[in-house]
Amino acid sequence: MASDSERNERMEKIVSLCKRRGFIFQSAEMYGGLNGCWDYGPLGAEIKRNLKNYWWQKNVIERDDIVGLDGSILTHQKVLKASGHIGGFSDPMVDCRTCKARFRADQVCEQKCPEKPSKSPEENACDLTQPREFNLMFSTHVGASSDEGSVAYLRPETAQSIFVQFKNVLETTRQKLPFGIAQIGKAFRNEINPRNFTFRSREFEQMEIEFFCRAEDGLRLTDEWLERRIGFYEEIGIPRDKLHILDVPDGERAHYSSKTYDIEYDFPFGIQELEGVAYRTDYDLRKHGEASGKPIEYFDEQSKEKFVPHVVEPSAGCDRTILALICEAYDEESLTNDKGKEETRIVMRFDPKIAPVKCGVFPLLKNKPELVAKAKEVKALLAPLMNVFYDESAAVGRRYRRQDEIGTPFCATIDFDTIGENGPELADTVTVRERDSMAQERVKIEQLPAYIGGKLV
Ligand code: ATP
Repeated sequence: MASDSERNERMEKIVSLCKRRGFIFQSAEMYGGLNGCWDYGPLGAEIKRNLKNYWWQKNVIERDDIVGLDGSILTHQKVLKASGHIGGFSDPMVDCRTCKARFRADQVCEQKCPEKPSKSPEENACDLTQPREFNLMFSTHVGASSDEGSVAYLRPETAQSIFVQFKNVLETTRQKLPFGIAQIGKAFRNEINPRNFTFRSREFEQMEIEFFCRAEDGLRLTDEWLERRIGFYEEIGIPRDKLHILDVPDGERAHYSSKTYDIEYDFPFGIQELEGVAYRTDYDLRKHGEASGKPIEYFDEQSKEKFVPHVVEPSAGCDRTILALICEAYDEESLTNDKGKEETRIVMRFDPKIAPVKCGVFPLLKNKPELVAKAKEVKALLAPLMNVFYDESAAVGRRYRRQDEIGTPFCATIDFDTIGENGPELADTVTVRERDSMAQERVKIEQLPAYIGGKLV
């Protein structure tokens, strides 16, 4: 078990690698940063795309009973009034009368006083006010007027557009219960204390499914979705023993939920939530039916019954999953180099389907035109199928290390054998080096797409 200081040090190294190699940057960094907002750099953008595509593939494309939606971010105030967010989507906040800092009242013990950073505000470092409720939604005005009626909100969860489009989706897809509607998109919460890198942000992405069902199936499906979602994390490279399941006790669940599991991950900064699997009952559809005066009902052709469906919601945080993947992948390994010296290899052990770059392509020497031309051919062969990085600078060992540090699972080196200088048998073959084992194998160029492609699914 690593100590707190080892865990802190590991997290610092991860944050610094994310910036140094272009995974994640602070938003508006050159102006001092916008607190709680992050920009994904070239490599982070690739990981995000890979994660979202895989989630969509597994939950929408490969299933007959889940369809997709891409709702608007700007949300009508009536939607959020009916859902209970305008009145109730808040966290308790306390202020310090001395240092003027603000804290989430239920997380004070996990935080530090800005003036005495070795102490939590509770350890007599701060003079705290009584808690009061702080609404987390960002509001804006739609159109030229800025009266009460034009107020709209940036959605605090993607779920609400699914509920208010339920009827349209049902009519256009003719799905039968149980079935789901899935959505990936941005959500916004004006968090009181954004912290732990991207973990608690003010702008983030969610990957949500609202899985509609009959009331009697709600609890069983909640358990089934929990298992399925744990399986998903294992498939993308987060082992089950790093996940914790919290059966959220009565009194701590959201107002709409009668059963919630949190899937948590053992981050360097503590065990924290990645995803909530919540049984939201018929709360949302019923509320929207009542508030709009247009009941949202499902007609069961067999029993000839009409009823408001219930819903199970697996709601995953895209950014939190990426952070977990990055934390899980980070590894340092001691090696003896060619000159007999000890060195540290930093390697991001991403699952190949998540890795931002799938294959590095290197000509052995950059001043040998035949090698460069052949390497560019290899790059052109692979590029339509996967993200490939061409690199001709520095010794091959250095190039391997650069790819290890960003988690590239394969590197293909084009050498004198490839261009037939050592006989016809090895012509048009390349050395493929695997990131984790560092094992090298000779592979025919024409077989490369299948060889690497087969390991990316
Ligand atoms: P928390 O208790 O950590 O504030 P929550 O229980 O309010 O989270 P949900 O409303 O269940 O979160 O949202 C579903 C998922 O959306 C979370 O499991 C998380 O992955 C993600 N999420 C929620 N808030 C944030 C945030 N501020 N930054 C990043 N991701 C978030």
